[in-house]
Amino acid sequence: MTKPGEDNNVLVDTFKRKHNYLRISLTERCNLRCTYCMPADGIQLSPKEHIMTYEEIYTIAKEFVDHGVTKIRLTGGEPLVRKDVSLILDKLSSLPVELTLTTNGVIVDRFIEQFKKCGITSLNVSLDSLDSAKNENITRRSYFEKVYNNILLLVKEGFTVKVNCVLMKGFNDNEIIEFINLSKDLPVHIRFIEFMPFDGNRWNMEKLVSLQEIMDKVHSHFNQNEVVKLQDAPHDTTKSYKIKNYNGTFAIISSVTNPFCDGCNRIRLTANGQLKNCLFSSSETDLLTSLRQGKPITPIIAQTIKSKLKIRSGMDTLEKFKKIDGHNNRSMITIGG
Ligand code: SAM
Ligand code: SF4
Repeated sequence: MTKPGEDNNVLVDTFKRKHNYLRISLTERCNLRCTYCMPADGIQLSPKEHIMTYEEIYTIAKEFVDHGVTKIRLTGGEPLVRKDVSLILDKLSSLPVELTLTTNGVIVDRFIEQFKKCGITSLNVSLDSLDSAKNENITRRSYFEKVYNNILLLVKEGFTVKVNCVLMKGFNDNEIIEFINLSKDLPVHIRFIEFMPFDGNRWNMEKLVSLQEIMDKVHSHFNQNEVVKLQDAPHDTTKSYKIKNYNGTFAIISSVTNPFCDGCNRIRLTANGQLKNCLFSSSETDLLTSLRQGKPITPIIAQTIKSKLKIRSGMDTLEKFKKIDGHNNRSMITIGG
């Protein structure tokens, strides 16, 4: 809690955006190898001693909560492969925040009771194809059945499930309608994500399926009066829709063609304790070293937030964005989406 006389604007940037949503990457490791996330040659993992311990994660998270963070998302790598993830979930669930996770779903079934105990009610699960062979192709592993069944299990157990699907032209853009139809009977929320550039993921604009292209497909399949636009909350990264009488919804995350930086309330902490004020920022602040040296971390957090640029870390036009090609940023697996 901010004490009298203390700066209560630690999480507010120069554009008056309040960062009350912290995303913590728990690990750089993963049990899948998605081509758009993990470079083909793998990554150089940080030495174990450079990865935050569970106590350090809690200490940093608490500092953020004391300054106004109300939501924490655990991500990775795959957050559930970290050995002490249960301990971390327990510790963080003692904070007054909405706690949630983004997971590839492979081992979710082992954590159902733990999620309930920790008050987790909603999870994002990644699934890029409804075809087992294609899924193997993109994840370089064969866990389709497992992930699909775990999504069904989460729904059955009463969790809100958002299904993250990164679209790539010529690969899975022919499954858009099939994915939306998954929300006919199942109360799941499909989220189509525009393919973004990160180190080693061979991004190019031609592979991207844009918001416009997705909606063109939707409108060519469904009647206009069947496609209902839903109200998006101010900080939502999604443009949400529903097909009339379907149980679930679908949405589009258009970071490339329609960035949503105006309402951005997110700040990211990597597994090795670096603070990133934007997914696309090439610079980061070393919070962990300062914490280990016993220095106060609040001024460092405030400075990192204050230095956040208005749009996509300076890439305010699509032209500038196309030029980055991911090379001046980490690979996604070491950021945490
Ligand atoms: N392993 C977990 C998972 O896959 O859900 C959490 C980490 S993963 C990095 C978080 C999210 O980032 C996933 O939904 C994934 O699809 C998304 N992602 C990874 N690389 C991406 C890229 N190049 N463009 C868009 N989304 C990406
Ligand atoms: Fe692993 Fe998630 Fe990246 Fe796929 S998207 S390689 S599951 S961290």
